[in-house]
Amino acid sequence: MIDFNARIKDALALASDTKVFQFGEDILKHAPDLFMENFPGKKALIVADGNTWGAAGEKVWSYFKGAGIECRKHLFGMEEFHADSIYSDEIGAELDEFPSIPVAVGSGVINDLCKLAAFRHNVPYMVVATAASVDGYSSSGASITVDGAKMTIECKAPKVILADTNVLASAPKEMTAAGYADLAAKIPAGGEWMIADLFGTEPIVPEAWKILYEILPEMIADPEGIAAGNPESVGILFAGLTLSGIAMQVAHSSRPASCAEHLYSHWLDMTGHTFNGKLQSHGFQVGVGTLTTCAFFDELLKMDLSEIDVEACVEKWPALEEEQRRAREIFKDFPVSELGYTEITKKYNDKETVRRQLELIKNNWHEFKKELRKQVYSFDKMQNMFSIAGAPTCPEDIGVTRNQMRYLTDFVQLMRWRINMLDLAKRGCFYDRLVDGVFGKGGVWEC
Ligand SMILES: [Zn+2]
Repeated sequence: MIDFNARIKDALALASDTKVFQFGEDILKHAPDLFMENFPGKKALIVADGNTWGAAGEKVWSYFKGAGIECRKHLFGMEEFHADSIYSDEIGAELDEFPSIPVAVGSGVINDLCKLAAFRHNVPYMVVATAASVDGYSSSGASITVDGAKMTIECKAPKVILADTNVLASAPKEMTAAGYADLAAKIPAGGEWMIADLFGTEPIVPEAWKILYEILPEMIADPEGIAAGNPESVGILFAGLTLSGIAMQVAHSSRPASCAEHLYSHWLDMTGHTFNGKLQSHGFQVGVGTLTTCAFFDELLKMDLSEIDVEACVEKWPALEEEQRRAREIFKDFPVSELGYTEITKKYNDKETVRRQLELIKNNWHEFKKELRKQVYSFDKMQNMFSIAGAPTCPEDIGVTRNQMRYLTDFVQLMRWRINMLDLAKRGCFYDRLVDGVFGKGGVWEC
């Protein structure tokens, strides 16, 4: 059994922003003490929405009042809302009027809004988690929509995180399953980081890798406990999500936690996707992306890239202008039509670099393939774990067709400057084969 507390202690020693992470059963009442220890003499702005107020906010409010902390509350009344910068501005206006430390009581959205508002006001902040639902609690990036475009804005991670595992375990099961999928997403994301590392575009940061990846398999090994809402299992999941955020703090990048699988979710967010009239959770969308990238890895690992014809691929490698044109065409009806163009311009490599990258893949393939297989679970294994945990097992579970997933894949390849496995496929001239392997005849998502 892994000593998670020791792992957290080691991770916090390296974290740039987060200094305190307390999790355990029935610890909500310690919130005022933690606040006073870490923000002595400060006032508090407690931020929650209708759901998180009931889950923990009201109690936190009364504990703070009882402890004599001067505080105000900012409650969002909407049933359902996204992390849009206008809401962060609302919190900011409150901070102007009432200079204080934001205390985000909630999960993804409330945390992201407070993270940005605190950063813009140059104050630290505290999180009281209400669900083990996303990986962004402890990361420095706020996932925010600005003028319709979903982006990660570099801020500061919370200084203090408190997670009462009884509160987490009482969250709707779907939220916990979503967090499970978001943590499991690190499995293929790690494989894609290994590719970027081999290419030299984003080398693996050993400290960040150690914090998250060494213990990741153990942290997602209990889908039954997740489905049952067992506080200990949900607590371990939350610790995993927090460690993934700390790994991001240490790497100064979201690379440890996010690659192609997250981009499927970003696409759905940016186009306002709903299913049965409801926005789908980050974790569920990422979960479907995760299954897709696991399936891509299965196809990739069937190939023998030691046989790749490097010169032929380099010969076919398009010029930047062609790639920009392709991106413009693909994104022409997308809400942010410049996105593909901007990102491909950042990530484009010239022929010489592509030659070197392909030679590295070719010359190291047999060993590298084994390493990738060790890191990335097969589609079947991941799908089975998701099925047990109550996470989606196919695109239809979030109201997306297989054809749409296939269609989205062309966007995903271009949507972010970060090298992903689809970029490897483009360079190696096997992109169509890879996509066909998953969505074509006989593929796991034949359409
Ligand atoms: Zn995520």
